[in-house]
Amino acid sequence: MDENWGDRTKMVHAGVRRSQYGEVSEAIFLTQGFVYDSAEQAAARFEKAGPDEFIYARYGNPTTAMFEARIAALEGAEDAFATASGMAAVNGALSAMLKAGDHVVSARALFGSCRYILEEILTRYGVEVTFVDGTDLDAWRAAIRPDTRAVFLESVSNPTLEVVDLRAVAQLAHAAGALVVVDNVFTTPVYSKAIALGADVVIYSATKHIDGQGRALGGVILGTHEFIRKTVEPYLKHTGGAMSPFNAWIMLKGMETLDLRVRAQAATAQTIAEALGTDARLTRTIYPGLTSHAQHAIAMEQIGAGGTVVSFEIAGGQEAAFRFLNALRIVLISNNLGDAKSIITHPATTTHQRLSPETKEQLGIAPGLVRLSVGLEDAADLLADLRQALDKVAQD
Ligand SMILES: *Cc1c(COP(=O)(O)O)cnc(C)c1O
Repeated sequence: MDENWGDRTKMVHAGVRRSQYGEVSEAIFLTQGFVYDSAEQAAARFEKAGPDEFIYARYGNPTTAMFEARIAALEGAEDAFATASGMAAVNGALSAMLKAGDHVVSARALFGSCRYILEEILTRYGVEVTFVDGTDLDAWRAAIRPDTRAVFLESVSNPTLEVVDLRAVAQLAHAAGALVVVDNVFTTPVYSKAIALGADVVIYSATKHIDGQGRALGGVILGTHEFIRKTVEPYLKHTGGAMSPFNAWIMLKGMETLDLRVRAQAATAQTIAEALGTDARLTRTIYPGLTSHAQHAIAMEQIGAGGTVVSFEIAGGQEAAFRFLNALRIVLISNNLGDAKSIITHPATTTHQRLSPETKEQLGIAPGLVRLSVGLEDAADLLADLRQALDKVAQD
């Protein structure tokens, strides 16, 4: 690969390992193991495997390695480890780096399962976790201590789309010697500048935009070669969080069209947010691409676009929100995001159901809040669908 390649070229060509057959499309090496020419060769490989030498698919596989190399090239990371799901990546990165007695500072607005790992699992093993309002730099400053080992945040939070000032948080964390771990799903690899802004570890759920067609689970941890090979790989290869070669192939093919899809989805999301932002039947429209968004300037500088998700609050609470969802004809009620199909979810009763009423209120997850993941349909059709469903909320 040429370092000077543009992103689109990397998304199509980076990381390819061609077999002796010279196939154009990446091969799926659907094998758990690899044959050695001799007992001596097996012994040597277990002692130290070369870059083209594989042992067992839980440790690595040629198809999975292609995906890891491609996403690392795009993200500008030295190395990557692909995982079975986004949660395997979040858990893998944090569990691999932390030990009892360590302190973590985390943004409080998180995907439900990320919050569960920090709040319920890590604390059980003696890690202390402090939650802060991710948009409040003074809160980060007050919470980060000399024994803080890591900070964790979603660059854009789910579902209320709070944007964290990654550069500023990274400066505070690095001054205390802490690693910056970013769950970058909502920013997407297309818009990510996370490493340049100071992230040490970047995590994606590949299930979202990277597949982008709702087919397979996957995740990836990106970081320095040292961190991935010395910290992450030993943890994941022994605990079994590896991505399947078949899913890695889906993600490789997803990456070929990632830039086109995400930019088209973000453009439609911007159109929808602007149109809905003036609709009186909504009490709130949240989209980082709107000038009304509290962190609009940071989003533009650090991401460069509003992203593919729009959240909005419907007047009339949960009942109105349910009526709205049930009246939609094109937009599907489901809980994935980044898909080619537009998808809507009611966070308070699904993805964030587990949270207490107080926490929901603190995080702005109101009963009328819905999260729309904008797909690849025509913007006009989506808007018409959303508007006819809003009309139904008010009827009878
Ligand atoms: C979906 C998601 C995850 C989890 O990914 P899975 O692939 O479903 O395990 C983690 N973080 C964020 C922000 C997500 O949206």
